[in-house]
Amino acid sequence: MRIEEVVRTLEQFAPLPLQDGFDNAGLQIGLTDVETTGVLLCLDVTEAVLTEAIQLGCNLIVSHHPLLFKGYTSLTGKDYTERCIIKAIKNDLIIYSAHTNLDNATSGVNFKIAEKIGLNHVRILAPKENTLLKLITYVPPTYANKVRNALFAAGCGNIGNYDSCSYSSEGKGTFRAKEGAQPFCGSIGKLCDQEEIKIEIVLPAYKKTEAVKALIEAHPYEEPAYDLYPIVNTWVQAGAGVIGDLEEPEPELDFLKRIKKIFDVGCLKHNEFSGRFIRKVALCGGAGAFLLPQVLHSKADAFITGEMKYHDYFKCEKNILIAEIGHYESEQCIKEVLHFVIDEKIPHVNIHISKVNTNPIKYL
Ligand SMILES: [Zn+2]
Repeated sequence: MRIEEVVRTLEQFAPLPLQDGFDNAGLQIGLTDVETTGVLLCLDVTEAVLTEAIQLGCNLIVSHHPLLFKGYTSLTGKDYTERCIIKAIKNDLIIYSAHTNLDNATSGVNFKIAEKIGLNHVRILAPKENTLLKLITYVPPTYANKVRNALFAAGCGNIGNYDSCSYSSEGKGTFRAKEGAQPFCGSIGKLCDQEEIKIEIVLPAYKKTEAVKALIEAHPYEEPAYDLYPIVNTWVQAGAGVIGDLEEPEPELDFLKRIKKIFDVGCLKHNEFSGRFIRKVALCGGAGAFLLPQVLHSKADAFITGEMKYHDYFKCEKNILIAEIGHYESEQCIKEVLHFVIDEKIPHVNIHISKVNTNPIKYL
């Protein structure tokens, strides 16, 4: 199995266009046109993780946090990032990172955290904005199914838990073929009326090229007419954080003790108890304080995240129970998500989960 196929599998699950603007997810180091000798999954790339990969015989490291975030004008090994770059290149290691694209993906990291906590009815807390397009095209009735199905296969027509969504209406198109044209019906120089089905369908903007290609291939016209519009709907299947409900309401202290155990938390920080029972829970792995406005608006009873600042606590007052469980602790289960994604599609590849504890924060 070539590394490029592992990368393709990861990007089908967590498409790179879903990453946040500041991010640098994707291929970090190496050439993907080589055979995989094994995959090592980790949260952070450190020198110890690279050594582990070499010892296990894995030439592909898939991390959550990108190793590279900036351009380099020299590589002298003056910090751990530069030493990792040099060591990876010397040992023919390929490094790939699935970061905020994995956070924002359907069934991504936050869904895994929600599963561990036992949340039901899990949905995205802050759906992505300005990421959808509407595609409209006009097809002869006998070809409507073919074109619709081609568009579905190209990733169009997904809304929430439904796929194959489209709307069709009947109408009439007109055209006059000029010299040199090969019209579907009618003849050169004569105005032609043609019964047509208007198909309307939604798609993520990053699927545009694929969708238009599928449309042109399936459509019988020499020059298919189609319109693409940006739409301002949020995309409920992708975005930051999730929210869901516990089966049974739980007292605050019991809830926090359970969370501490599930995520093996060294030090769980929280705000003052208010005596509420916890039922609706919002969460975001890693640094999730940027979601506080949406969290407070959601009327969740508790918010679990990896890290927050002192002043963020003041914004919450007693409106919600905050559980700050540590960045590393909150994102440990990412390795399980990556394992599932690769193993489900490419079962015969050797996958290892890193045993190196890369958490730079220790507790007394
Ligand atoms: Zn993180």
